[in-house]
Order: sequence, then structure tokens, then C-alpha cells
Amino acid sequence: MKVVAGGKIIVLDTGPGTMRRLLETGTTIFDISYLLYSHLHPDHTGELVPLLFATKYPDTRQRREPLAIMAGLGFVDFYSGLRDVFHDWIQLPEGMVTITELSTTGRDRRTFEGITIETLPMAHRPESIGFRITGSDGRVVVYSGDTDVCENLVTLAKDADVLICESALPDELKVPGHLSPSLAGEMAASANVRTLVLTHFYPECDHADIRKECRKTFDGELLLAEDLMDIEF
Ligand SMILES: [Zn+2]
Ligand SMILES: [Zn+2]
Repeated sequence: MKVVAGGKIIVLDTGPGTMRRLLETGTTIFDISYLLYSHLHPDHTGELVPLLFATKYPDTRQRREPLAIMAGLGFVDFYSGLRDVFHDWIQLPEGMVTITELSTTGRDRRTFEGITIETLPMAHRPESIGFRITGSDGRVVVYSGDTDVCENLVTLAKDADVLICESALPDELKVPGHLSPSLAGEMAASANVRTLVLTHFYPECDHADIRKECRKTFDGELLLAEDLMDIEF
């Protein structure tokens, strides 16, 4: 997911296909200032290695500013594991990548260039965190990453303009660690968010009326995410 705030490009999670879809929106990997990770599952991190490799080859000088990566505690270990496998193929020149580990036990908050990023742990993996991004104009977008029902998500999303929330499976197929449409709607309604965007659909969602299930609990603006969807707010 790409967020443009304060003239900076923030990318949240890089599942397979991220670089291609970014290019289709006119963004190259060299335009990304911040890379935020909700957790380490491959559907959220799978394109990190290709992204670093493509930053390095054929010409490292194409990236002019450091890439700032932020993720929950445990990311440094994960990254060093990747380095063990891919060695210097994914090592950027000194100073061209920074890694900031954020709290996985409580609230964390970072401010840079007029943008504020707040995080809280989510109910999915020990390293899971959700993100609340507030632009310099006060507009707020929240991203759940993957999560089950979670009071922290309601807290993080309080009065947000937009909540991009996972809704992995239809109500009757709900599994631990993920939300379903009516539960995502419940979280969004409790948090009083204006626009709810459901995402992270497993194929089973193709055979269910996701919108109808969500409408049982949420009556604000509701969108079902699609690749290349553009939300201005
Ligand atoms: Zn996951
Ligand atoms: Zn996932």
C-alpha cells in the first residue's frame, strides 16, 4: 500500500508484485522514502529482497536518499537472516538504509517531516503492529496489517478518516488471527472511522457477499479494496 503524505512516499508492506503495481502508479522504488512493515509473513514482506536487489543493481546511485525501514521488534533479526542467505546482493551502500524497530508491547510514536506515525500491537503475530499515519493537515489513515479482534485496533483507529482493515475470510469461515467482514465492521464502528476499506481477501471471499456481511455492523462509507485503487481524502 502506498501513502503519499507531505510530498513523501510511504509504502506499507511489500507483498509479491509490489514493485510492478507501484510502477503502474508512476512510482519507482527510488521514490520510496519510508517502508513500513506490519509483520513478517511472506505475503507482506515477499518483495523486500527483490526491492533491495533492484536498488543495488545495475546502479546503486539511482537511490539518492536513504531508505527508512520501520517495523516491529524482531525485524533486525529477520533482516540479518535475509543477509545470511543473500549476502551483499541486498546490502545497500553505507547509510543508504536505516532500520527502526518499533515497540511490540505498547504504543510507539515517531514524527518526521510533518508526518506522525503511531503504532500499537495487533493480534496476529508477536511482531505485528498496526499503523496510524497523521499528515501535517491532520488527516488520518490507519492500517491494521493482519489481525484478529483487537481492542488496540479500535484505539489506533479512533476517529480516523480512513481505516484500511484486513478482512481475510467471510464471516462463516473466520479463522484465528484474522478478521471477517462483520468483525472488521464492528472494529470500525467502535472506532468511529469515516471510511472503512476492507482488504486482504482470501479467494473464499469471491464467493461471499462481503459488503452485505460488513453492513451488519458498519454503516459509514465502505469500500472493498482492489489493486491500484486510489483514495483521496
Ligand atoms: Zn499474516
Ligand atoms: Zn497477510
